[in-house]
Amino acid sequence: MFAFRFLPRRLPRFTPLTALLLLTVVLPATTAFGGSPPPLPAGHEAPPAVVERIDELRREIARHDDLYFRLAEPEITDAEYDALKAELRRLEAEWPDIVTDAPPVPEIGDDRTGFFPTHRHIAPMLSLDKVTTEEELEAFDRRVRQALGRDAINYWVEPKFDGIAVSLTFENGRFTRAATRGNGEEGDDITANVRALGIVPEVLRRAVADGRAVPGPDLIEIRGELFASYEEFERLNAARVTEGERPFANPRNLAAGTMKLREPAEVAERRIELVCFGWGGFVPEDGRPADLRGFHEWLAAWGLPVVEEPEMMRGIEEAMAAVRRIGDERGELPFPIDGAVVKVAAVEDADVLGWSTTAPRWAVAWKFAPPRAATRLRGIAFQVGRTGAVTPVAELEPVEFEGATVERSSLHNADEIARLDLRIGDTVLVEKAGDIIPVIVGVDRAQRPEDSEPFAFPALCPSCGGPLHRQPGRAVHFCGNRECPERVARTIEHFASSAALNIRGLGPRTVEALVREAGVRSAVDLYRLDAETLLGVSGIGERTAANLLASIEASRGARWERVVYGLGLPGIGARRARSLAAAAVDYEALLDVDAERLVAGLDDGGAGLSASVVGDLLAELALPETRQLLKELRDAGVGSAPELSGTGPLAGEVVVVTGSLPDWTRAEVVALMEAAGAGVRSRVTGETTLLVAGERPGSNLERARALGVPVIDAAELRRRLEEN
Ligand SMILES: [Zn+2]
Repeated sequence: MFAFRFLPRRLPRFTPLTALLLLTVVLPATTAFGGSPPPLPAGHEAPPAVVERIDELRREIARHDDLYFRLAEPEITDAEYDALKAELRRLEAEWPDIVTDAPPVPEIGDDRTGFFPTHRHIAPMLSLDKVTTEEELEAFDRRVRQALGRDAINYWVEPKFDGIAVSLTFENGRFTRAATRGNGEEGDDITANVRALGIVPEVLRRAVADGRAVPGPDLIEIRGELFASYEEFERLNAARVTEGERPFANPRNLAAGTMKLREPAEVAERRIELVCFGWGGFVPEDGRPADLRGFHEWLAAWGLPVVEEPEMMRGIEEAMAAVRRIGDERGELPFPIDGAVVKVAAVEDADVLGWSTTAPRWAVAWKFAPPRAATRLRGIAFQVGRTGAVTPVAELEPVEFEGATVERSSLHNADEIARLDLRIGDTVLVEKAGDIIPVIVGVDRAQRPEDSEPFAFPALCPSCGGPLHRQPGRAVHFCGNRECPERVARTIEHFASSAALNIRGLGPRTVEALVREAGVRSAVDLYRLDAETLLGVSGIGERTAANLLASIEASRGARWERVVYGLGLPGIGARRARSLAAAAVDYEALLDVDAERLVAGLDDGGAGLSASVVGDLLAELALPETRQLLKELRDAGVGSAPELSGTGPLAGEVVVVTGSLPDWTRAEVVALMEAAGAGVRSRVTGETTLLVAGERPGSNLERARALGVPVIDAAELRRRLEEN
């Protein structure tokens, strides 16, 4: 047996123990140590450090809730999140009346994005109370038996799917609405996205094969989970990596992110699956089934996907055995589950037990501990990304884990290494918490080699040897050298990726060779390559050189939004690149960037940019290196301006928009005008044929007047667009 010391996922700066210590300082008469804190006199104020920590935790948790529920892009693991929340709840229990600048964190996270209509649930969607030990499950059973006044209880046990909860409303057997959990009371109406999946029948079947009729309520909210299989997760991630997009962290994020897409057509391209297992509203109430086995049969007969082998168990011991079986089979399932659900099977018993304010009293969720394995840390390698971020990667003694050989694990940053006091040669514990790449969660100190030394994070860049620095408040080390070979290589790889300029033949090896041997220092250098130079690079023969040159040449005609994406600007992924390209329609617009307009244009991209993302973007666009690259790419003719089309009410017009227009975002007006045949530019020149002036127009208006360019307003534009 290993004597692991499980470290907390994140070292709290302020713990309940230090709260107690502080308390003893404030109130010297009480010296209780480790026991419960002494009762506080009314109006007693918490020490400032406690207030500060609670405020900090509330902010931090709200931020992670936002990332997790709204954006489906979590930054930390579930375990890290749970640790933050547990610390907050402990402190709040000790200081119940505390008021901080940050509002209290609601018990149920809110997944509403603001981009979908809101749907109010008939019966609230609450989460289940969680148990992790047999004692806790037995305590649940005791409460149930006491409340019902008898010992023989039947439990229904099924796996707990790890996806996104959904409520499907059927009225008179017809599918009318799909909604997310939201805040439990109201969720996002994702009906169109669920329809796009093609897995929910429009009409519930009312008879089974042998002709027997199946009961059907007038109205029912069927509760279930939308989830992705490991296979689909790997398929989509492989595609995303090729396209230069960030892969999904785990299948649950894939499912949650997909159901929040705003294009049902994109949803339809992904295989998200559904399992149904419960109900919310049910009309008429006396039409409900007698027990969960009966309901399971109805669901299947209606044509809805159900849990394959749920089990009806007599008593808690049988239920526990079923939970263990689900745990044992977990590694072989083609989709992720994170626990098992134990429910009181009889509906009339459940009615007696009822609900607390946050959860039903007739069910609990057994949460499995994430799978773990032990191995040895052979070394720590470093990767330099295109932003200069230096990421440590743990190199492990290969170990069989969950059906795969694991040799590497992510380490995030220097803080993580220091917190774990990770040393080369250590025996480490790796955990897969729904993520495909495992993380190191603990060190077996007993097995530490005697001569091991604390790991020192390098002060110099492993690629260029330049100094590394940390930005205040961020845990990541950066190489600030824009000519750092690994940074340059990653930047060019991104520029050439299929979602950007789509230059074929520029894999990592070739790019590294071009940087090393052909003097390529930036994306624009690609357009200066000739056959002679390429033939001097190792691994490139005549055919490769010719193909590469042709592909580079062809990329000059790439659409503007691809160029914008290829620039790799901070915070600008493929989706935001589209709205940035509409907000700044050419190189001039990017060089002459107007922060307010840019942000207004980007907002319609819907990703809800934070102030820091906007700040980083504007800072990047203001850098002399960025400006230089933009000018050079412009001069090299990379990224053709939108072609004028020969048809449409604005055919052949070269239009500039100045000021803001009512009713349209900038992206919308650009798209409308382009669809109407116009070419849209940022600046009035001799080429301009029409200026659209909105409120608070800029200097383009004066230039247009000086050049005699016709000027119209939004109403006139609308009139012209509506022609034909
Ligand atoms: Zn470097």
